[in-house]
Amino acid sequence: MKNVAVIGGGTMGNGIAHTFAQSGFKVQLIDISEASLERGMATISKNLDRMVAKEIITDANKQDTLKNITTHTDITTGVKSVNLVVEAATENVDLKLKIFKQLDEVCDEDTVLATNTSSISITQIAAVTSRPDKVIGMHFMNPVPIMKLVEIIRGYSTSDTITNTIMDLARKLGKIPTEVNDYPGFVANRILMPMINESIETLYNGVAGVEEIDTVMKLGMAHPMGPLQLADFIGLDVCLSILNVMHDGFKNPKYAPCPLLVNMVRAGKLGVKSGEGFYDYSESRKAEKVSSQFV
Ligand code: NAD
Repeated sequence: MKNVAVIGGGTMGNGIAHTFAQSGFKVQLIDISEASLERGMATISKNLDRMVAKEIITDANKQDTLKNITTHTDITTGVKSVNLVVEAATENVDLKLKIFKQLDEVCDEDTVLATNTSSISITQIAAVTSRPDKVIGMHFMNPVPIMKLVEIIRGYSTSDTITNTIMDLARKLGKIPTEVNDYPGFVANRILMPMINESIETLYNGVAGVEEIDTVMKLGMAHPMGPLQLADFIGLDVCLSILNVMHDGFKNPKYAPCPLLVNMVRAGKLGVKSGEGFYDYSESRKAEKVSSQFV
């Protein structure tokens, strides 16, 4: 596998494109939004600059990485003759089903179709294609160029051969793949999201403020980042979608999203990407506590 298409140039898509390109793959980065592609490429360039400054890579490595990425707004042109597609578009079931139906029609029959979904069923996505044995979850963590884990999710029909190929591919990217089965939230988010939701509930109940909750978890549990700040980095809309998928999938009230999270998403407070979530990122991108207006 040398030619890869990445669908979605947002938080995850640009990180996935960066990671493949830095490992020598030719990457077609596809997004319906030209502005997203521009932002995505600017982010990749900025992150590569940071790696050059830290002497992790040379300036020549940076230029080679950028040369390996081509951008497209049209899926059909973008996926022409790629061996693998990694879909990282918005977390929405209907959207992903539509994209995979289209990918199945326009990709070569041997092309492997992977999704970076955080929670949506791989089996359900695979079922809209004529190649369910070649559909797999490849769940990268944010920020992709830095984080080592890739959760590899086998759908009900994913073949052993494809699973092994994708596990090997993740290793070639310098990552550590871990194989899990296809149930809502897989492993990472099944454990992480209830913690984030409970932190929001704790804020909503007025037990403590944003910084206090994050401080308890950082200093008390040795987490590198508090759960509310982590939610801001993931995107509050993404957190809400994942909780809804687990709530629907398990029919268990323990996954019901906190009303405060629902309200913040309705208000467009999505975290880092919108400039404000539990913290304010608008000026100098320094996390500052916003007022307790949400509580
Ligand atoms: P994002 O909102 O930052 O980016 C989504 C991108 O998809 C946008 O640029 C949007 O224009 C694009 N898009 C929407 N419809 C499209 C289409 N039809 N074709 C091509 N592009 C389209 O979202 P994100 O945080 O990067 O999440 C992407 C995926 O990765 C989701 O499935 C999410 O659950 C998953 N994920 C997110 C994180 C995280 O920390 N944010 C971590 C792991 C996995």
